[in-house]
Amino acid sequence: MAGTTHNQKNFLGVPVAKPRVAFFELSSCEGCQLQILNNEATLLDFLSLVQVVNFREAMTEKSDDYDIAFVEGSITRKDEVERLRNIRQNARVLVALGSCACFGGINQLKNRFDPDWVKRKVYGNSPVDTDKAQPLEEFVHINLRIYGCPVRKEEVERIVTNLVIGKEIHHPRYPVCMECKANENVCLFDLGEPCLGPVTRAGCDSWCPNSRAGCWGCRGPADEANMEQMRKIMAEKGFSEETLIDRLECFGGFKDSVDRIRKGQP
Ligand code: SF4
Ligand code: SF4
Ligand code: SF4
Repeated sequence: MAGTTHNQKNFLGVPVAKPRVAFFELSSCEGCQLQILNNEATLLDFLSLVQVVNFREAMTEKSDDYDIAFVEGSITRKDEVERLRNIRQNARVLVALGSCACFGGINQLKNRFDPDWVKRKVYGNSPVDTDKAQPLEEFVHINLRIYGCPVRKEEVERIVTNLVIGKEIHHPRYPVCMECKANENVCLFDLGEPCLGPVTRAGCDSWCPNSRAGCWGCRGPADEANMEQMRKIMAEKGFSEETLIDRLECFGGFKDSVDRIRKGQP
């Protein structure tokens, strides 16, 4: 990362920039952070690229002096807005980590229901001051998104490496079907199951279809996703519009498409 702080030297004595990074969670299951820690085989390589200064799931030390902040989770409470704004002030680069941070994620499913009913159902007689679930970009500027529920560690490592060496970061523009075909999977539709692969942004290496499970769109829409064609495929294969909407609504990334379908628009 050009111009970052805290230069160190590698084993050849060449100065390397090691950005100070911090991980934070808002309303989330912490599964995305867990992904980072999950793969011990590459963890040391990852840690050699950066200096982790704040990561509650992994360490006790805490610092507010960081270059890159990875924020997992959606905003569901007022105190989280304040916390996010503080993180934004401290960080040169703010990364929305995972579907909750990017789109509201699984949490935003509650937005479909009456908030008081949701509070009663979840918290019973011990109500909590919780509001609708919203993505980070509703409150602060986001520099970068890492999609997925959870994110894939390999993708996080690639993105962090690119940040460190100052390389541009691009997400695949094409849909999951491309990766699924390259992986030579049998199409789920041919096995009688629905799948959002035709409209969902690739990058997960067709994680779910590889295990014979249809895509639920956790990475949000691919560039120029052809929703009309998706609706046609679902109808031709005998799946109802409600089944399609059910999947599209799951992670929040297809909110605009769902609104259009509900209004009967193309
Ligand atoms: S995106 Fe998924 S895995 Fe990540 S915090 Fe949200 S619910 Fe958990
Ligand atoms: S299983 Fe899903 S992702 Fe794979 S080819 Fe079929 S529709 Fe596309
Ligand atoms: S296949 Fe779909 S639901 Fe599964 S990880 Fe990839 S984008 Fe997410």
